[in-house]
Amino acid sequence: MRELLKIKNLSIKFKGEMEYYIINNIDFEIKKGERIGLVGESGCGKTTVALSIMGLLPESIEISEGEISLYTEEGVTLLNNLSSTSSEWRNIRGKVISMIFQEPSSSLNPTMNIGYQIMEPLLYRSYSRKEAKRKAIEMMEKVGLPSPEEIFKRFPHELSGGMQQRVMIAISLILNPSLLIADEPTTSLDVTIQAGILKLIEDLNKEMKMAVLLITHDLGVVSEVVENMMVMYSGEIVEKGKVENLLNNPLHPYMKGLIASFPEIHKSKEKLKSMKGNVPPPWKRAEGCLFAPRCPYRMDICSKKPKWKEKEKGHYVRCWLYE
Ligand code: SF4
Repeated sequence: MRELLKIKNLSIKFKGEMEYYIINNIDFEIKKGERIGLVGESGCGKTTVALSIMGLLPESIEISEGEISLYTEEGVTLLNNLSSTSSEWRNIRGKVISMIFQEPSSSLNPTMNIGYQIMEPLLYRSYSRKEAKRKAIEMMEKVGLPSPEEIFKRFPHELSGGMQQRVMIAISLILNPSLLIADEPTTSLDVTIQAGILKLIEDLNKEMKMAVLLITHDLGVVSEVVENMMVMYSGEIVEKGKVENLLNNPLHPYMKGLIASFPEIHKSKEKLKSMKGNVPPPWKRAEGCLFAPRCPYRMDICSKKPKWKEKEKGHYVRCWLYE
């Protein structure tokens, strides 16, 4: 598979009266057509990474170091060098990289009908209304919206949460992007609808050959959709590799803790384990290994930053236990 997006040494910081790093020196790449997951507890910086790729960071947050490179037929574009208002972004957002946000009900415009919201990216790119409607109906069928002609005329509040999320996916995919970033796409949905949306994302990845970056705190969700995953803690990636290796043989104590605290139906009589403590706010992070204050295996050397180690082929971890 050829590379599509490469993040190198990326650091993102909050600039205000008090300056602090939200993301620290992260590296990863997404290949064309790959399904990759970014996993971690709430507050560890996953959404900030997604917003930096989309060029949607708020004004108070900036990329202080590193590169985000996008590889297309036209060549390599450094996304962190584009101005947030530039027309270059308009050629990238939606067309090359698209994003589904966490809450469909707050992402859809309540004053516009569903059809217009799906057609809008096409109209903006000079498609005729007739052609845009034909493509919108086709996409609505593809994402499993029943009676698309009927739903086309409806408003967001007339649809269920699952249907709203399918509309969001239709909007994200209408320009046939190369990369779909799905940020907690099933958080507000019940379990059966969640399964349907995840299957849909996987099917569309195969059919449209687009890469998917799935951001979630839910290990059940990643295990169903992605091939490769990265585990993020407190603004750093601490383990990465094939999803089955990370789930069956977790190495980093944080990943082990996440797996131990994951409920399993056949272990209903066992007491659920929980990890000690919480993700610290970015301005209160430890020196060295950021997980040290919560780690049951902490050693003196953990006050220094651990380096990446390839423990088995393609399975990387950042922890002094493996030095
Ligand atoms: Fe625990 Fe040390 Fe490994 Fe950090 S480096 S996870 S503190 S053992």
